[in-house]
Amino acid sequence: MANEAAEAATQQAELKSYDVVVIGSGPGGYVAAIRAAQLGFKTANVEKYPTLGGTCLNVGCIPSKALLDSSEHYHNAAHTFQTHGIDIKGLEVNMPQMIARKAQVVDDNVKGIAFLMKKNKIDVHQGVGAFVNNTTLTITPTAEGAESKTITSKYFIIATGSKPIAIPNVTLDKKRIITSTEALELTEVPERMVVIGGGVIGMELGSVFGRLGSKIEVVEFTNSLIPIMDASLGKELQKVLGKLGFTYHFGHKVTGAEVVTTGKGKSAKEVVKITAEPAAGGEAITLEADILLVSVGRRPYTDGLNAEAAGVEIDERGRVKVDEHLRTTAENIFAIGDVIHGAMLAHKAEEEGVFVAEHLAGQRPHINYLLIPNVVYTWPEVASVGYTEKELKDKGIAYKTGAFPFKASGRARASMDTDGFVRVYSDKTTDELLGVHMIGPRTADMIAEAVVAMEYRASAEDIARMSHAHPTYTEAFKEACLAATENRALHM
Ligand code: FAD
Repeated sequence: MANEAAEAATQQAELKSYDVVVIGSGPGGYVAAIRAAQLGFKTANVEKYPTLGGTCLNVGCIPSKALLDSSEHYHNAAHTFQTHGIDIKGLEVNMPQMIARKAQVVDDNVKGIAFLMKKNKIDVHQGVGAFVNNTTLTITPTAEGAESKTITSKYFIIATGSKPIAIPNVTLDKKRIITSTEALELTEVPERMVVIGGGVIGMELGSVFGRLGSKIEVVEFTNSLIPIMDASLGKELQKVLGKLGFTYHFGHKVTGAEVVTTGKGKSAKEVVKITAEPAAGGEAITLEADILLVSVGRRPYTDGLNAEAAGVEIDERGRVKVDEHLRTTAENIFAIGDVIHGAMLAHKAEEEGVFVAEHLAGQRPHINYLLIPNVVYTWPEVASVGYTEKELKDKGIAYKTGAFPFKASGRARASMDTDGFVRVYSDKTTDELLGVHMIGPRTADMIAEAVVAMEYRASAEDIARMSHAHPTYTEAFKEACLAATENRALHM
């Protein structure tokens, strides 16, 4: 591979040279490129897909949120409009239109990134980047007939992201056995969908189709949904999605799935038969679905990068190894986002992109990883920042708890969004906020207040004493903080 790449390099007449080359244009990569350009570096971005924006803009955050919004409108029109005094006749889902609108949203966003690249005078090279050595990269365009080129750079930033994980004995045919990428393209609402994995992506996409009328069955290896978040959130989400018709098989692992044809003649149809075994041992269960969504996580992606030619080491879990400055084992090469350790989140990747660019410019940037919020865009939304209760217990930190349910919020009653609560943990002695966990309406936006508060090391009482506009959902955060300070919530 290294020799082939070196040969291609010598064939090229003109060798473009940069200060910083970013490989990958997801939220980590494009943000790193913009910040590097702002700081005066001659910058290029290399992206193998024809559009910029990576997983997040093309097949992740943005299209999933577009479908979550559309499906939520439908669900409300079908189930809550009547109570609001709005009668609708002939309500129907037009799935091809829903998918077309989503595609338009994606298109607007990826064009926006192309505009930002131009505005910041960043060269964009389409193709797969592969290292020849630690200063040289070949770029092989994916378009037929296009010629490979070679560029050199003083620094590289690897931002090649991640891909969905497959599981043994479950072959992804991308038609009936699918990942999130294909789920975002379904043009029919499946009658029955089995979701493997009770994590963020599974619950978001399960919600989309659950709201549109699919019967959702979840198979989850652990004993709760969204197991990495505070246990209180998983329990409440399970209850709320249960109202949407979700059923669960906790403590089970899928051991096989195959597409079979049932029925004969005109009634013949393909279905997926799924086998799942209890994790603790015991009798297997069999499930049947029209669509099986495999959402058991993502793996760091470095295929085709030829990292070893540049002296970049990959760890045993496939992640690019980095130090505290996000420097790889090659002195002039850095890595950010999903391809390194840590949460696979767009805003984490963005912070790291800015961090590396500023570090290269001689600045002293800092990322507070504890305060990177986690969000699940179901309805109600789930959001958290800081320590979970389990983490506090494991660390032996003494804490106080305050909670406030949305059913006691005037704003939530007005909008009929009374499921969920805000729960805060603060230090038993100093009252400093240590963790904020929310499930309820618009908590994805509300969590920003908790991030700011914790960044400035606010106490629960600080929040409790600040005026929060009435009526707003944010009052629930204030009330939870009041509850944490001598149990003095006012509206409970
Ligand atoms: P990516 O966005 O994966 O981008 C990497 C890019 O590198 C890709 O475009 C790829 O083509 C390119 N590339 C790879 N190898 C090469 C190479 N050798 N040469 C050239 N280019 C290369 N996160 C959130 O924070 N909020 C959300 O709401 C959210 N929703 C999600 C929903 C879904 C369905 C999915 C799948 C993910 C979601 N995520 C969300 C996660 C988020 O998308 C990722 O954390 C984020 O995209 C990671 O950014 P990145 O820059 O590290 O990599």
